[in-house]
Amino acid sequence: MKKTFQIAAALLCAFSMAGCSVRNDQEPVQMDFFAMDTYMTFTAYGDGAEQALAQAEEEIRKLESEWSVTDESSEIWAVNHSGGEPVALDSETAQIVRFALDMAEETDGALDPTIYPVLEAWGFTTDENRIPGEEEIQTLLANTGYEKVELNGSQITLRPGMEIDLGAVGKGYAGDVVAALVEEAGITSALLDIGGNIQAVGSRPDGTDWRLGIRSPYGEGTIGALSVSDCAVVTSGNYERYFIGEDGKRYGHIIDPATGHPVDNGLASVTIIADEGKMGDALSTSMFVKGLDQAQEYWRAHQDFDMIIITEDGRVYLTENLENRFVLSESYGNLEVHVISS
Ligand code: ADP
Ligand code: MG
Repeated sequence: MKKTFQIAAALLCAFSMAGCSVRNDQEPVQMDFFAMDTYMTFTAYGDGAEQALAQAEEEIRKLESEWSVTDESSEIWAVNHSGGEPVALDSETAQIVRFALDMAEETDGALDPTIYPVLEAWGFTTDENRIPGEEEIQTLLANTGYEKVELNGSQITLRPGMEIDLGAVGKGYAGDVVAALVEEAGITSALLDIGGNIQAVGSRPDGTDWRLGIRSPYGEGTIGALSVSDCAVVTSGNYERYFIGEDGKRYGHIIDPATGHPVDNGLASVTIIADEGKMGDALSTSMFVKGLDQAQEYWRAHQDFDMIIITEDGRVYLTENLENRFVLSESYGNLEVHVISS
């Protein structure tokens, strides 16, 4: 299954590379590739765009090799197989782990980078999905808890049996890194799509806002368009990576750390608009876990980001700043729109 996916991605990449060797000023340079277990599409305008994007791809591959949970040469693999011994991390990896732990605390554990053993039990790490028994889940939960991780500077110590994974924040963090890289190369107009995490660098070449299609959690196509510039737009949902259990129920890949079960709270997706990708990524996952009421409460207490919440039963909630920035697609014009105000 994954193999076919990769071959398809490789083909796609080959075609797009051929397509981008010739360009003029109006035409963007575009690159597609498969990394971090997802498709990436980078688009940039202006002089030096091609070189900047090639550099960005290289950077993504470097970060992927450091943060992979399955690659035996990665730093995270070393941490997860340390048997309780301290491990010295590269400073960039230490930074993202620090960020994930801080956000875990800030969200009262809705985000928890130590949830990995539970994720494995549900088969989300191997695509061999199963429904674990309650006893098994409780035993594994005893090996989770961000507050048990010791991170002193760049030195990390996990208790035996614990494992960490940067799945919920890594792509967002990588987005910030490549956006900075592209900006340093003098590019003022680029869209970096990191598996659905969009990093908008500047605005469109003519200075107007980007219009981003927000994917519908109900099926194909986009549910609406969002006008933004210079920010990260990150979506989490249960509509992309999930399995249908023998009981006929749908189980998604975002786990509620409080129960050890996939989130099942009536939300279909959460999109976060934030200055930084890592913040968008951490919040999209954790607000999805929190659910409609608690996510709104969290937003009211912080208000340094914007949010689109879509429920399974067809309601759309927008934080007040988005009222004039988000328009539903015609085919979804019947959805009920609510505004979350401070
Ligand atoms: P995606 O990777 O599909 O963009 P997310 O950013 O929401 O979606 O991250 C989901 C991934 O994060 C899961 O595949 C898993 O690796 C990990 N994960 C699942 N639940 C949690 C959680 N509550 N806290 C932290 N990480 C989680
Ligand atoms: Mg996330």
